[in-house]
Amino acid sequence: MENNENGCCGKNNGINGLHQDNSNDSKEDSGCGCGCGYGSIEYPDESLVDNPKDVKIIVEDGFIEKFESYAHSIGVKSIGYTKVPAELIITNEPLLYTNAIVITMEMDKQIIETEPGAEAQRLNDLAYAKLGNMAYKLSDYLRENGFATQAAHPYESIVNFSPLAEKAGLGLIGKSGLLITPELGPRQKIAAILVNIKNLPILKYDEHAWIADYCKKCSNCVKACPEKALIEKESCCGEKETEFVQNLCIGCSEGCTFCIEECPFDKKGYIHIKNKFDKLNAKLMEKKNKEAKNL
Ligand code: SF4
Ligand code: SF4
Repeated sequence: MENNENGCCGKNNGINGLHQDNSNDSKEDSGCGCGCGYGSIEYPDESLVDNPKDVKIIVEDGFIEKFESYAHSIGVKSIGYTKVPAELIITNEPLLYTNAIVITMEMDKQIIETEPGAEAQRLNDLAYAKLGNMAYKLSDYLRENGFATQAAHPYESIVNFSPLAEKAGLGLIGKSGLLITPELGPRQKIAAILVNIKNLPILKYDEHAWIADYCKKCSNCVKACPEKALIEKESCCGEKETEFVQNLCIGCSEGCTFCIEECPFDKKGYIHIKNKFDKLNAKLMEKKNKEAKNL
């Protein structure tokens, strides 16, 4: 997706679910009235535990399982681990730690069912506050266990959450610019806890790469956008590419979610779409093989 960097509410580079521009450039653009961070709402540091004096940097066997079990018990849906690449750091301050534990939380259906406007935005802000609180709770849990942390609140824009979640293997960013995951499709919010733990279970994933091919044939999000903030156009190589026009998007200022609710991954679920996609590809392959034999 081509991304227009000028504006307030970025997709692809944004906070989950609704869209936020996390670029340093637009950070200085204060005239947008965007509701997704950048000082419009300031969330206090909710940490109850200080960083430990003697910092551990290695997790022992079994700790990750205990940590994940605690995370799920407080409402976290999925958890992934990755290094934070320099290009995904969007704060001008140096990050304290450059490994990330990335978490997702389900975006309540109520936000989806509420028309864009003040009430949708209020619900949206509540969701960010809820996920931020989860990030601080997990950060406290790690600190109590001897690890140093920096919670990355979903509204604070210190890292670019959607690509970070993609890098952590949680899903793939679709044509809408939103992260699509097996657990929640495009309907989630993302936060992270930054750590200097050296032996996080960072895995190499590519199991969601097929989503890009599915998106090529779909475009429901483009058609659903009432503000024409998603524009499809031909790229130089004859392929279609989608441009996101941030300053037209009302995702962050009015809680718009049309691109989420019209996404087949939200309507039918990841597994259903994947099975359908695989069956269709198998049929196409069969047809091609038959044609090749008849030549
Ligand atoms: S439907 Fe359009 S305006 Fe609404 S959040 Fe999606 S991109 Fe933004
Ligand atoms: S609506 Fe279609 S094109 Fe848009 S992200 Fe979802 S699957 Fe991809």
